[in-house]
Amino acid sequence: MQIGIPRESLVGETRVAATPETVKKLVAGKHAVIIERGAGITANYPDEAYEAAGATLVDASQALGAELVLKVRSPSEQEIASMRKDAVLVGMLDPFNHEGLKRLAESGLTAFSLEAAPRITRAQSLDVLSSQANLAGYKAVLLAAHHYGRLIPMMMTAAGTLKAARAVILGAGVAGLQAIATARRLGAVVEASDVRPAAQEQVESLGAKFIEVPFETDEEREIAQGVGGYARPMPAAWMARQAKLVAERCAQADIVITTALIPGRPAPTLVSEETVKAMKPGSVIVDLAVERGGNCPLSERDQVVQKHGVTLVGYTNLPALVPTDASALYARNLLDFLKLIVDGEGKLAIQREDEIVAACLMCTQGNLIRSA
Ligand code: NAD
Repeated sequence: MQIGIPRESLVGETRVAATPETVKKLVAGKHAVIIERGAGITANYPDEAYEAAGATLVDASQALGAELVLKVRSPSEQEIASMRKDAVLVGMLDPFNHEGLKRLAESGLTAFSLEAAPRITRAQSLDVLSSQANLAGYKAVLLAAHHYGRLIPMMMTAAGTLKAARAVILGAGVAGLQAIATARRLGAVVEASDVRPAAQEQVESLGAKFIEVPFETDEEREIAQGVGGYARPMPAAWMARQAKLVAERCAQADIVITTALIPGRPAPTLVSEETVKAMKPGSVIVDLAVERGGNCPLSERDQVVQKHGVTLVGYTNLPALVPTDASALYARNLLDFLKLIVDGEGKLAIQREDEIVAACLMCTQGNLIRSA
């Protein structure tokens, strides 16, 4: 089958959907890979490396005109217009963007969005949310360290001792746990909060303290279990108790990294303006939830701003800041997913009864299959 890899057109998107490593495997799997010239440049994969791996360099319209198109982000209207009506598209297409998916459906494409894969063991190797969130959690800590005017580890020098930085991580999913691990490696004293009780053991196993918000009713305890591994919105009373504890911990913190999300909903507010006002001058908040409205109302999309003496970092696409590794992991995720929709002869064989395939299928033959 012919597989096309266009260059990503979204502003600031530096990742690419295939690397020389995955191209080599696709070619070995009897596919003809065509890749847009310069598609890997921003991720540090030069054209020559793709050619050496067996790909053919083409222009944008040819790459988009392939039978199977691999992308990082949703195609623009212009890109959709260059695609074949019966093409198959695989990417991160945002399953909660109803309008975007409707547009894809109307174009006749068969489109798979890998963010919709179920959080089951068999899907781990194609789990794009995990592969990318993991890198985002790591990069968030480095950004915080960069914007923090002090050091992170405790340091004893001839001129005196510097205290270790205190970090608070809100949301201990994939990104949060990696942020905890990275902050600990740099020498910070770390505390973390999550609504799911299962997160406590994971937080503690990384050497951080769990900020426990006690449950006062069975309903609170039940909702906190979440569904499918994801959190659900907590009752207002629990959120108020959490806000109080978070405010106390943030007032002592030097670095706050927020990662709390609830699928398909605006991000919960965890750090209020009052809490920011009470934080130490020079402290830093990195808000990873900014794309969904932010965990702090003061953070601004794709901006670094200073408010009440606190630096707020609001980049929406942290994996794009580590594009080489982010692309390497993403491209491997795609390769694993393709095993479910392509047979051993390199021909399309979509196993619609497969639980992962069914969850990721957004539209086919003009029909919108799934949209939140
Ligand atoms: P996410 O990005 O949807 O949310 C980030 C975190 O925010 C979650 O841990 C969530 O519980 C937390 N959160 C929501 N509201 C909060 C609040 N008010 N206060 C504090 N924290 C709050 O989550 P994710 O990183 O995608 O992980 C979701 C789940 O999926 C986790 O349970 C993870 O272990 C699981 N997971 C399973 C697999 C697998 O088995 N294949 C792979 C990856 C992740």
